[in-house]
Amino acid sequence: MDDAATAVFVERVACISCGGGTLQEVCAGRFDEGAVERFIREDPWGEHPAPFLRGQRWSYVACQDCDMAFHRYVLAPDWSERLFSRWMSQEAIAAFEKTLKTPPNKFRKAGEHTAHVLRIEKLTRVLRGSQPTRVLDFGCGYGEFLSMCFLYGFDACGVDRSAAKRDNNTYSRVFAEIDDVAAMAPFHALTLFEVLEHLVEPQALMLRLRDLLATGGILVLETPDCSGVRKIETREEYARIHPLEHLNGFTPETLKGFAERLGFESITRPIACVTSDLDRVAKSLLHPLVTPTTRQYFRKR
Ligand SMILES: [Zn+2]
Repeated sequence: MDDAATAVFVERVACISCGGGTLQEVCAGRFDEGAVERFIREDPWGEHPAPFLRGQRWSYVACQDCDMAFHRYVLAPDWSERLFSRWMSQEAIAAFEKTLKTPPNKFRKAGEHTAHVLRIEKLTRVLRGSQPTRVLDFGCGYGEFLSMCFLYGFDACGVDRSAAKRDNNTYSRVFAEIDDVAAMAPFHALTLFEVLEHLVEPQALMLRLRDLLATGGILVLETPDCSGVRKIETREEYARIHPLEHLNGFTPETLKGFAERLGFESITRPIACVTSDLDRVAKSLLHPLVTPTTRQYFRKR
């Protein structure tokens, strides 16, 4: 690939959730203008993508049939590879994560992992009988959730495409490909935390993963909530629908529709309180009942 080349994008012409072809542009622009240009310029990168994106256009669209919103143009496979290896280098990821992985954030995240473990244990009791809970965490990153599963006696494994993350994983059973974990199926639970928004073909991947989940097994999906995001002018909007990384913009409704179309039944997330503060217990009890979120539980039919 020429170092002075222009990045190649491919167009997604059909809805990634329902397959519909009537797409309405929500917002659009060029990578070398406006807020998007500024945020990309300011972000930490290895090889800086700006020279390759000059003159290129991004377009965020919504399906008129099911409301699913997503970026119409996505990097072609070899350019996507370049994004994840050279643009988002190990050093750039470390610089970015340094601002996020503060002690309070780590503490909160660990509590959330424990809450998922407790819910999964409860929801799979009948399905697994006396067997240990088998969990597959797809896009497991550095393996923090897998480590928590292990502490609770689960039989857990993960898949992550990033060699850097696999090599620096806190957990031992992490693989590069879905095929590598097929022999361990069927799983009682499947988790995808902050993964679906990154995928060019999320439906195709979910169909493969669904085959590895036992009938009656639990699917946990978490994505950023892109409700109401209709432009990229602020850092917050950029973070949610980043045109290079967050290719799909889910809302509570479209996430539910996406999973239901794949044969999953939406279920109420069981209450799990991991806190020593009484007011947070009250919030945990009430919040899911009044506010729909993009943190959802499903059961495979
Ligand atoms: Zn659609």
